[in-house]
Amino acid sequence: MIYTCYEMIRDCRAGRAEGWRFFIASYVPVIRKLLAHYQPGGQVDQAALERVLVAVHRPESALFQSLEPSPERWFVAQLRQEVLEQLPADAPATAIDLETVAAALEPLTLVEKQVAWLETMLYQPAETGILLRMAPSTAEKIRGKVADLIRGKVDSWSGTILSENGRSLGREAVTAAGADCLPPKTFLDMLDGRTTWQGRGELERHVTRCWHCIDHFCRLVEVVEVLRGNQALSDVEAAPFCELLGVPTGTPPAWKRWLAGRAG
Ligand SMILES: [Zn+2]
Repeated sequence: MIYTCYEMIRDCRAGRAEGWRFFIASYVPVIRKLLAHYQPGGQVDQAALERVLVAVHRPESALFQSLEPSPERWFVAQLRQEVLEQLPADAPATAIDLETVAAALEPLTLVEKQVAWLETMLYQPAETGILLRMAPSTAEKIRGKVADLIRGKVDSWSGTILSENGRSLGREAVTAAGADCLPPKTFLDMLDGRTTWQGRGELERHVTRCWHCIDHFCRLVEVVEVLRGNQALSDVEAAPFCELLGVPTGTPPAWKRWLAGRAG
């Protein structure tokens, strides 16, 4: 029988050890990958990893609250938000808000806007190329166009203005949801090649205008990449994290094994 992400969410919410053991084994590697990308300097800091685990383990954590059957990728997209919450963010040299970005980039196509958004998510042109399946040189060219448009809208521009403002832009995009916004399933079908934007004019028109949906889509694209080849932790690797959260591991604690060893 396969233990699903939905069952894990249910068990974690109910505080069952098997849910938390599965979460730790499967998603600590995911948290590490996200930290490696988003942490300044690209170092996975153990303290940040532990902060994320402690934060999502709290009863008030939003991560396990949804009663909807949650596809794994949507769950990981939410987990990514929790990871970012635990990382310090420097104030940008020049602040830019979503409204200004939206106005500046209005003339761009949907794909060009996705390239711009991945820049706020700290991806380099080569990585953007992989994520959006385009040549790195194409991503680079689009980023030049994006820079020109932004430069025309702000008093003081720098090449890092989008990446420096990424965190606050991301937060704004999340709260910008409207009644017409697309459900995760629509994006997931698109990523799985089951549907395309073509021939779905209404849908494409909405997403092209909606930064909430562009953010949502880009985060799911990121999740697909982060989950690629994900390797679960072994019991031994997972043990310290289970201990951190007070989750029974099913094997006797070290001191009992030590005592048993002495008795023998
Ligand atoms: Zn939308």
